[in-house]
Amino acid sequence: MSRKLIWIEQPHFRGFGCSECSWRFEPSGAPTGTSFDEMMRNFELKRDKEFASHICADHSQEAMHSAPIKR
Ligand SMILES: [Zn+2]
Repeated sequence: MSRKLIWIEQPHFRGFGCSECSWRFEPSGAPTGTSFDEMMRNFELKRDKEFASHICADHSQEAMHSAPIKR
């Protein structure tokens, strides 16, 4: 697996995502911490944890393209 956490900049999304699938990191709620450094650390920990635990196959870009076609 050579997936990487990448910065994504799109008209409708700006943030971190996966280089190998359509997974995006969307933090829920405000970051917690008593200082900016702590908030940044918590944010990064959460981001890295969610990135590490997501399954690329579940967010496959191909899966979206190969949705069942109605005949
Ligand atoms: Zn992925």
